Amino acid sequence: MIAPSKLDERAKTIARDFPILAQPTSRGKRLAFLDSAASSQKPQAVIDALVHYYTYDNANIHRGVYELAERATAAFEGAREKVARFINAAESAELIWTRNTTESINLVSFSWGLQNLRPGDAILTSQLEHHSNLVPWQLLAAKTGADLRFIEVDANGMHELDDLDEKLHGVKLVALSHISNSLGTIAPLETIVPRAHAAGAIVLVDAAQSVPHMKVDVRALDVDFLAASGHKMCGPTGIGFLYGKRALLEAMPPFLTGGDMIKRVEYRETSFNEIPWKFEAGTSNIADAVALGAAVDYLETIGMDWVHAHERRLTAFALERMRTLEPLGLAIYGPLDPKDRSGIIAFNLADVHAHDLASILDTEGVCVRAGHHCTMPLMEKMGWPATARASFYLYNTEEDVEQLAGALHKAARIFKLA
Ligand code: PMP
Repeated sequence: MIAPSKLDERAKTIARDFPILAQPTSRGKRLAFLDSAASSQKPQAVIDALVHYYTYDNANIHRGVYELAERATAAFEGAREKVARFINAAESAELIWTRNTTESINLVSFSWGLQNLRPGDAILTSQLEHHSNLVPWQLLAAKTGADLRFIEVDANGMHELDDLDEKLHGVKLVALSHISNSLGTIAPLETIVPRAHAAGAIVLVDAAQSVPHMKVDVRALDVDFLAASGHKMCGPTGIGFLYGKRALLEAMPPFLTGGDMIKRVEYRETSFNEIPWKFEAGTSNIADAVALGAAVDYLETIGMDWVHAHERRLTAFALERMRTLEPLGLAIYGPLDPKDRSGIIAFNLADVHAHDLASILDTEGVCVRAGHHCTMPLMEKMGWPATARASFYLYNTEEDVEQLAGALHKAARIFKLA
């Protein structure tokens, strides 16, 4: 157990690695960046890796025989190995580069889904999902005649598992977010995955909100596919990945076709490359993959256990501070037990619209997101027109939380709640 003050001291040091956080806002306020669930900030080491790649190593990969191309290939494939190791994949061939979580899920939907689903089959997801882990399954169900089912969630965003075995009947694919981007709920994968497998289903995990924040081990979880985005884990935008078990990936048809994903092309026929390249048509996002490798190095140096412990403690501290505003009309959503939630806190202040609230917080230098958070059906189910959302990462400190609490008090005064 690390002492609370030690966690905060280290976070303050870490924040200095992120140059963007040192700039004041145009109103001269200290920046309290509480929107890492949307996209994280980047440490200098990642920015340097991008600049280094373009300054010294840039060339197209795989086919070049000259030194630069070999260096670019080694950096690109080296980054793949780092990310594969980071999630404990058995081999780097099981790690496919994509643009982001959304593309990774679409890859599975178009490739595995169209090949494997028939009328009478079912897909099981939950009522918590981001549109990225919902819309692809709606379209797949419509195309294949498969049924789309939902694990329901209660008023606090907790999964209702009483009827799980019934719901799993006939299910071929279970697709769930590991952590809800709207409410911070951590899905009980250790319960759901074995039962899904026992029912003959494979499991896809949308890990956009978990891989950046905690140790995620694809083999310990025994998931079949896992999708994540680089930009939420200190890496650049435009690079993400799909993990898949070798046997599944080998049996799947390619998603996109063209250069690099082929072994041999004739005028009327083509044989495809080995995994992972079978799924990487065209010139890849080489520089951003390399920089994502640097992001993984950065996170590993700090340690994912530290990141997780720090965020848990900071979230508990934030919940405590925010609860003092409940008499003024602050409503906090999501799981009641802190062990069921990550560093995401959704809230509303009385009947103030979340956008108005977020705009007032912005005048105090506090960056939070407001809206439906790409979970429109969940908002409708809960009866919330919108929510504000604060989310924490390794560079946030108690000072950020105090700034949020202070800005909320200001908002309460402006709206005459205090
Ligand atoms: N799933 C979850 C749980 C997310 O939080 C997000 C991003 N907000 C996504 C999927 C989509 O990520 P991206 O836009 O990087 O594809």
